[in-house]
Amino acid sequence: MTLHPVYGHEDLRRRLQESAAARRLPQSLLFTGPEGAGKQRLALWLGTSLLCAADPTERPCGRCRSCHLAADLQHPDIHWFFPVASPGGSLTPEKRREKLEDARLETLAARRENPFQSAEPDRSAALYLPVVEEIRSRASRRPAMSSGTVFVIGDAERMVPQASSPEAANAFLKLLEEPPPDTMFVLTSSRPGLLLPTIWSRVLSVRVTPVDTSTTARFLEAEAGLDAARAQEVALRSGGRIGVALRLVEASDDPRVPAIRFVRAAMSDRCSDRWALSASFAPAGARGGFSDLLDMVEAVLRDCITISLESDASAIDTTLVEQLPRVRSIDPKGWIAAVSHVEQARDAALGNGNPQGISAVLLARLARELRSGQSAGPERRRAARVSGAL
Ligand SMILES: [Zn+2]
Repeated sequence: MTLHPVYGHEDLRRRLQESAAARRLPQSLLFTGPEGAGKQRLALWLGTSLLCAADPTERPCGRCRSCHLAADLQHPDIHWFFPVASPGGSLTPEKRREKLEDARLETLAARRENPFQSAEPDRSAALYLPVVEEIRSRASRRPAMSSGTVFVIGDAERMVPQASSPEAANAFLKLLEEPPPDTMFVLTSSRPGLLLPTIWSRVLSVRVTPVDTSTTARFLEAEAGLDAARAQEVALRSGGRIGVALRLVEASDDPRVPAIRFVRAAMSDRCSDRWALSASFAPAGARGGFSDLLDMVEAVLRDCITISLESDASAIDTTLVEQLPRVRSIDPKGWIAAVSHVEQARDAALGNGNPQGISAVLLARLARELRSGQSAGPERRRAARVSGAL
C-alpha cells in the first residue's frame, strides 16, 4: 500500500463525509492551508471515499478493490495531477504533452517505490497548458470502473496563465463551473492568493489546518518508524504539518546536515558556493523552516566553539570534525563572533524577511569571521613565531 493512512483532520473528514452522504458536496472544491498540512492527501482520501464500494457511512472502507487501488495510486478513476518541470527544448505540442505526462507518471511511480518521498517541488514545475488539456480530455471519458471520476489537482496556483490559448483556459473553467455528471474536482493550494481569480470564483474553498504535534508524532512513530524522542522532535519542528515532517525525516537522519552544509559554505574558499546556497532559499517568508535552519546553524557553531577549545582530541564530536575538517584550525574567537551574526540573522528572520537576502548577508559575515579566525589559527601563529624569531 502506497498511501499512508490519514492522521488527524477528524472534524473536516466527518463534515466531508456527511456532505457526500447527503449528496450536498459541490463538484469543485479547493483545499487551502499551509504547505505540508496534508491537503493533497486529504483530497485523495476524499476521492477514495467517494468511489468506495462500501456503505456510505463506512467509506472509505479500506478493504474493497476500489480502496486498494486508490491506496496504491493505481485507481483508473482517480486522477492526481500536480506541477511537473517543463521538458524544455522545442517540441511539438503533442510531444510536449506526452513528456509532461511521462514526468507525472514517473513521479507517481517513484512515490509507489518510496511512499515517503516528498521532494521539494522543482521551481520550474507548473501545471502547463498541455496538462490542463490532458485533464480536459480525461474528464470527457466515462469512468473505467466506478460510478464517478475524481480529479485531484495539487498546487493549483501553479496553473500557468493561458493567455496564448484562451479557448483552452475557458474550456477548463467551464469544466470547473459545470463538471460532467459524477465528476469531482478537488484543487489544493497553499497560496490561494495566487490562483487565477477566474478559478477562485468557481470553487468552494475548504480550509485544511495543520494537525497537532502529538498526532504528528504518533504518525511518525507508527508510519515512518521513528523512535519516540525523534518523532517528538521532528513533530515539533514541523509545526503539525505531516508533509513537512516527512521531508525533514527524508532530508537526513541527522537533523544537523543542512546546518553543517551552511557552515561549510561559509568556510569555503569559493564565493560562488555561498551564492549558490543563498539562491537555493525562498525569496520570501523567513519564519518557519528557514528560522529552524538558523537555530540549527547556531547549535553547530556552538559545537565548533567547543571543538576549537578542546585540547583532548578524544573528547570531541568526531562526526562534526569529519564534516568540517578545518574546524580545529579556526580560532575560537572566530566561532564566537559567528554565533552573534547568526543571532542577528535570526532577528531578521523573525520579521519574516527574505531568506535569500538574510542568508547571503549571513554567509558573507561568517566567511569573514571564519577566514580571519583562520588566519589567527595555528598556521598564522606559526608564521608569527617564525617572523618573531628573525
Ligand atoms: Zn472501500
